[in-house]
Amino acid sequence: MIEKEKRQRLNWKKEFDYILLHLSPLLILWTGATWFDWVLCISLYFFRMFFITAGYHRYFSHKTFKTSRFFQFILAWFAQSSLQKGALWWASNHRVHHKHSDKPKDPHSSKLYGFWYAHMGWIMAPEFKVTQYALIRDFTKYKELIWLNRHHWLPGLALMVTVYFIGNAVNGSGLFDWSAGLSTVACGFLLSTVLLYHGTFTINSLMHRIGRRRYKTDDDSKNSFWLALITLGEGWHNNHHYFQAAARQGFFWWEVDITYYVIKFLSWFGIVWDIRKVPKQVKYAFVKTEE
Ligand SMILES: [Zn+2]
Ligand SMILES: [Zn+2]
Repeated sequence: MIEKEKRQRLNWKKEFDYILLHLSPLLILWTGATWFDWVLCISLYFFRMFFITAGYHRYFSHKTFKTSRFFQFILAWFAQSSLQKGALWWASNHRVHHKHSDKPKDPHSSKLYGFWYAHMGWIMAPEFKVTQYALIRDFTKYKELIWLNRHHWLPGLALMVTVYFIGNAVNGSGLFDWSAGLSTVACGFLLSTVLLYHGTFTINSLMHRIGRRRYKTDDDSKNSFWLALITLGEGWHNNHHYFQAAARQGFFWWEVDITYYVIKFLSWFGIVWDIRKVPKQVKYAFVKTEE
């Protein structure tokens, strides 16, 4: 039995905004939702999921490809439009997860601290509120990233306001048809954001519980096709734990990894480059060779 760390109790009063955000999609009961609102809800889910996995995860946490200072900011901005805190906060905590996977210091080990704590409890836990800048030194030289990390809610707010005006124009008679965009905010932005939370959180909770293990790692990470679909490729979590340095998480052609395809597409236009690959000996490391 591994000895666990003592984790601080959650202060529910301080999590009022987070709880309110979770309840906010219920506004749809009053506003209703048009077909446009539903299309936007799904589109903004996948659009932002791409930036979560390509930005927060594959770029800021693992540096699996290179890009310009400008596009790096774009990656952080749209990742943060998901309201999952600052890119430097996200990446610094994620680096701790890999260093101590399913060990006492892992911020979100489902095995040690339980499913709900791994899924969303740790985000509210007082000890994980701060950005561990010492662990993300490679990015702290960029002042704009520090600024964005401090004002982590700004891209989400900007997106919500944009969605509101688009909703006014599409559902109503113009940008200032003030009530027409309310359903677009409720469904297109708020519901989409809550779904996006839980889509992302499954990586920390379910991906260390369900699925198959191809590679021997000293954690419980697993691979799941279905979770790879809803997370645009993050479901190949056992692959990723075995070899974190690659931009690609679906190591084989049948392991659908949409984020990787988009990263590859961006490289054709010179927006990203030096995409790190999976070496052959890593890919086939699970095959036992006869002596
Ligand atoms: Zn990772
Ligand atoms: Zn993991």
